[in-house]
Amino acid sequence: MALPLIKNYINGEWEESNGTEIGKIANPATGENIAQVVYSTQEDVDKAVQAAQKAFVQWRKTPPLTRARYLFRIKDAFEENFEEIAQTLTLEQGKIIDESRAEVRRMIENVEHATGATTLMCGYTLEDIATGIDCSGQRQPMGVFAGIAPYNFPAMVPWWFLPYAIVSGNTYILKPSEQVPMTQTKIFECLDEVGLPEGVVNMVHGSKDVVNAILDHPDIQGVSFVGSTPTAKYIYKRCGDTGKRVQALGGAKNVVGIMPDAKLDSGIPSLVTSFFGCSGQRCLAGSILAPVGEVADGLMEKFTAEASKIAVGDGMIEFTGMGPLASGAHRDRVLGYIEKGIEEGATLVLDGRDCKVEGYPEGYFVGPTIFDNVTPDMVIAKEEIFGPVVCVVRCKTLEDVIELVNTRDFANAACLYTDSGNAARKFKYEVLPSMVGINIGIAAPMSFFPFGGAGNSMFGDVKGHGQEIFQFFTDTKVVIERWF
Ligand code: NAD
Repeated sequence: MALPLIKNYINGEWEESNGTEIGKIANPATGENIAQVVYSTQEDVDKAVQAAQKAFVQWRKTPPLTRARYLFRIKDAFEENFEEIAQTLTLEQGKIIDESRAEVRRMIENVEHATGATTLMCGYTLEDIATGIDCSGQRQPMGVFAGIAPYNFPAMVPWWFLPYAIVSGNTYILKPSEQVPMTQTKIFECLDEVGLPEGVVNMVHGSKDVVNAILDHPDIQGVSFVGSTPTAKYIYKRCGDTGKRVQALGGAKNVVGIMPDAKLDSGIPSLVTSFFGCSGQRCLAGSILAPVGEVADGLMEKFTAEASKIAVGDGMIEFTGMGPLASGAHRDRVLGYIEKGIEEGATLVLDGRDCKVEGYPEGYFVGPTIFDNVTPDMVIAKEEIFGPVVCVVRCKTLEDVIELVNTRDFANAACLYTDSGNAARKFKYEVLPSMVGINIGIAAPMSFFPFGGAGNSMFGDVKGHGQEIFQFFTDTKVVIERWF
């Protein structure tokens, strides 16, 4: 039987691309192909941009409150289709169904936050900047924006940007990850139901050629990207060359420090989730565990015991503890890092390599894996593994933890468990990553705060969601006026 075909959504119509390159989408739990997607061409991108440009003419004149009302309806459509979206997400991405539900909830929270545009998008005025002369800064939408998304959060990540872009009066083109195009297809079916004016939102599928067509298109004003650091750097540079606004969020290597005075008695399960949630495929996953001093031995015992209890399996089955990795290629990459850690001399205390799930012989499973006695210069302590692999770097002092954080190539997030206000203050004051947790695992900022790291984890000035995002999607036109 032919696999279902994922289509583009252009100018309010579902369309098949004429492209010749076809990608297959597999269920990561079974390895079975479940859908196929044709990679779009330059003509598809041109068509989407034309539709979005045409729609912009009326959409920018639509009052912000009317635009926000579309978001209220979008929220309702998402709530009605909540479970179906979550199930589609687990089916193509592999994460456990509760993680998918949490992700869809976070997506909806962005829609909710963006409905505040009538306040959040306001400009400002000052009378009499010189006698009889008034000045105002008016926030104006700019035209067509585009989003390029990664595979690990197929529902939420595009919605860190899209609702803010359109409620500000811009029109939009989304390119989901070619590995997981089904979730946004479900989501765009909801948008179609809501009946946004044609061309306000568009979706094209594909891989790097489509990305390049977007980056080089003269009629796209700005790009929001989330993905790996090498691609983020590339996107940032190429958008600079073509004069586009850009926000490009990249990879991570997050450190979780544990001070000897940390109150962890009931916190071990949430600490474990920080590392193994979404099978470690999160830019906010804990990656390095850094216990300080005498806390290490007892912590390692409890942490390893809790991690070894995680039931790995098909994310569709309720109460599975951890799903597969998203693709066979990525599973092999993660296994390669485990081999590397052994070769580098780290102590493998929990080995997830031979992870068999009964009834799922072809699934892309890797079990929870923990390396102890990792040193900061090992490859496994430096590169982003993006899987259920924890590197334990034992530290002597808080200063060691801070140095460990600040010498990673990435600066996305870090956190510290401690009962000392002084230690907490020093940590949050001195670490370079711009998302910090205190006595909380690597926790994601909610939609009303900005999301994004520093250093090699983020290129550009304005982060995802939060209040500042309205600056990214608008130009502040300054009008200085005098009337005689
Ligand atoms: P990726 O960089 O491989 O792909 C991301 C997007 O870029 C996809 O849509 C893909 O089609 C496109 N792309 C890939 N290679 C390209 C190229 N050479 N030229 C042009 N476009 C290209 O990332 P991924 O593997 O899908 O996602 C995982 C990565 O995303 C991890 O590094 C993770 O840390 C990162 N991530 C970061 C955040 C954050 O907030 N910083 C959030 C989620 C994921």
